[in-house]
Amino acid sequence: MRDYDIIEADEALDIVLKHALPLTPRSVVLVEALDCVLAQDVIASEDLPPFPCSAKDGFAVIAADTTNPRRLVGEQMAGYIADLEVTPGTCVRITTGAPMPRGADAVIMVEYTQEAHGMITMQGHPVAPGADVRPVGQDITCGQRVLEAGMQLGPQEIGLLASLGQTAVVVYPRPRVAVLSTGDEIVEPDAQPRPGQIRDSNRYALMAAVQRAGAQPVSLGIGSDRQDELTDKIEEGLATCDAVISSGGVSMGELDLIKPILEGRGEVHFGRVNLKPGKPLTFATVDNKPVFALPGFPVSSLVSFEVFVRPALRKMAGQRLILRPHVPVTLAETIQGDAWRPEFHRARLTRENGTYMARTTGMQSSARLLSMVGANGLLVLPSQNKPFNAGETVTAILLEHPESEPYPPSWAKP
Ligand code: AMP
Ligand code: MG
Repeated sequence: MRDYDIIEADEALDIVLKHALPLTPRSVVLVEALDCVLAQDVIASEDLPPFPCSAKDGFAVIAADTTNPRRLVGEQMAGYIADLEVTPGTCVRITTGAPMPRGADAVIMVEYTQEAHGMITMQGHPVAPGADVRPVGQDITCGQRVLEAGMQLGPQEIGLLASLGQTAVVVYPRPRVAVLSTGDEIVEPDAQPRPGQIRDSNRYALMAAVQRAGAQPVSLGIGSDRQDELTDKIEEGLATCDAVISSGGVSMGELDLIKPILEGRGEVHFGRVNLKPGKPLTFATVDNKPVFALPGFPVSSLVSFEVFVRPALRKMAGQRLILRPHVPVTLAETIQGDAWRPEFHRARLTRENGTYMARTTGMQSSARLLSMVGANGLLVLPSQNKPFNAGETVTAILLEHPESEPYPPSWAKP
């Protein structure tokens, strides 16, 4: 195995993002498009509304006609062409979304009318031409660029596409990401571990994190510490997915086989990063696909996923905004960092009087997943051999938005 220089986290992220490229766009049906990024502008091929129609339930009239009451000559419901004509002295009952009858140029809301013996009396103000009529193309005109490449598709964009009859759309696909756990001691969570064994938490945590990042996780199971088995698993991931994530097997131990396997198969770009947790983080490309060999300790693997893998997956998915917000936070208590390495310190952030306040999640051991449970921020603490004092300002990576409020007690009542 090669010797790896230790590089800084910024440099590592830079290298990762240079090698993680947007996937080739393809067409997907609308029900699969949520949260995907558009790869092409969308041009309307139709006007919307496609015919002049009523914006209200009421009566279609000629605005300039001052006859009152008017004679009701028929009904125009939405969804049909009743083939009626409005002439001076008459009106047609009309519902919201129904096509305007010939001759009519305005709608009087039903609330402003009284009906008796087939006659409609209008109360109050005269109506202006065009009142409560939606003309052709009022919302969208044919040829208009309605969505731009690079936009993420939310419910409203998907609705817009449906309204234009565009039932498939060209997007960057969600990256398929193979997730592998490694180690002779690792067993499935539903197994009863024998002496010396521990349950696999990393694959479950990482697959969930992949899903949250908008990508598609694919499990490669658990690979034991054998070169042939790990090689086969990684090959399977490369053959079926856009990226591979492994955890474990990248430290300095004798059975840390991942780095040599990747060296033999592609290019390893770095193998050690100056940070805590996650120092053995390794990044390679094989057949132009990113391979992230994350450290084995559960917190190390999840934090390095957050900081290095998630932005890469978002970039592959065509997203332009790939980094979590970095915000200044005030320490609500004194926090011990690390004397030698910059630390991503897990913290709970609260919003207090417009400021983010940070409290530690306690003991920051890389094995202690509880230090991540409930954490909504990572404090980016530079290495220093004295504590960070309460009241000091540091930078935090926002993992969740901390400002959401609990619902009021009245909503809890049955
Ligand atoms: P390694 O880098 O393979 O030496 O692993 C470092 C530590 O993380 C060891 O204590 C492993 O047992 C633990 N570990 C590795 N993989 C997992 C996993 N999938 N789930 C939980 N712990 C793990
Ligand atoms: Mg191991």
